[in-house]
Amino acid sequence: MSSPTPLRPDLSALPAYVAGRTVAGAVKLASNEVALPPHPHVQQAVAEAVALGNRYPDITVSALSHRLADHLGVAPERIAVGCGSVALCGQLVSAVCSPGDEVVFAWRSFEAYPIVSVIGHATPVPVPNTAAHGHDLEAMLAAVTDRTRLLFVCNPNNPTGTALRRAELVDFLARVPEHVLVVLDEAYREFVSDPDVPDALTLLDAHPHVVVLRTFSKAHRLAGLRVGYAVGPADLVAALRSVSVPFSVSSPAQAAAIAALDVLGELEADARATAEEVGRMAAALRSAGYEVPETQANFVWLPLGDRTQDFVAHALDHKVVVRGFHPDGVRVSAGAPEENDLFLAAAAAFS
Ligand SMILES: *Cc1c(COP(=O)(O)O)cnc(C)c1O
Repeated sequence: MSSPTPLRPDLSALPAYVAGRTVAGAVKLASNEVALPPHPHVQQAVAEAVALGNRYPDITVSALSHRLADHLGVAPERIAVGCGSVALCGQLVSAVCSPGDEVVFAWRSFEAYPIVSVIGHATPVPVPNTAAHGHDLEAMLAAVTDRTRLLFVCNPNNPTGTALRRAELVDFLARVPEHVLVVLDEAYREFVSDPDVPDALTLLDAHPHVVVLRTFSKAHRLAGLRVGYAVGPADLVAALRSVSVPFSVSSPAQAAAIAALDVLGELEADARATAEEVGRMAAALRSAGYEVPETQANFVWLPLGDRTQDFVAHALDHKVVVRGFHPDGVRVSAGAPEENDLFLAAAAAFS
């Protein structure tokens, strides 16, 4: 008779990460990916790296870190590269939180935040969004206690698309107590169209308790390659490196990210075109009678409440996979224009 494996008792309470589904024959607008494949220059670099795949990758990710440092105008010691920025979210908890410490974040926001908090033996503290579906900064400040170590701000917010403006973010940062590290997660930065939504890197120098997360998964079209990075104080970056799984950024991933930076102008232009598509989708949905919060990302949010699952099923009947977050709403990523048209037709037919 075998006994049950002695697992951590709190793992049964761990929320599952629900990935957007891939359904054969249907259009996938469920994971905030860009519909285009990696840029040909990137594919070439990946192929070359694969040919050296018998060797371990550069454990310090030094070529990519230096390239990013040049590009961003910060010292390489202030950049930690990770296996996607979701891995860095977990490393931040590992580096900063002791068991029982608290992690504050908006809700709904990125579904990884509660998961990495629990895995890291910290206590997740979700703070409900405002009626306009954005971060409730006052309530987030009020949720900070002596045990709070980390506070995630997702800007623009996944899945609602809303974005904080410079003045409110600067005011907020000035009021967060010094024992709290603020993580500004900018996974959707390249899709932002309002110049009043700040580039978080411009806030770093004035705020020593801030770290910025970026990813190559969205605008850079490398979601399957897994590269993200953190920019912050050198002591924090050293800690992030020390708690990482060794060699977790593969050599094809490192090569892909460097190559993506070679063609960044093209990728950024494509991201601006996507942002325009999102604007077109939001306008069409509003004309059809939907509430659509302002979005600065590559997706729209439909706060459908109890009708969330019905809408997801209806869209699937029309061969479109969208992402439901029951019981709050539905997130729809912008795809190619004809894919978006298919979705808009489905949405217009929902009653
Ligand atoms: C997609 C996303 C990320 C990036 O995840 P990767 O692990 O880099 O693929 C990070 N934060 C948010 C809010 C996201 O939506």
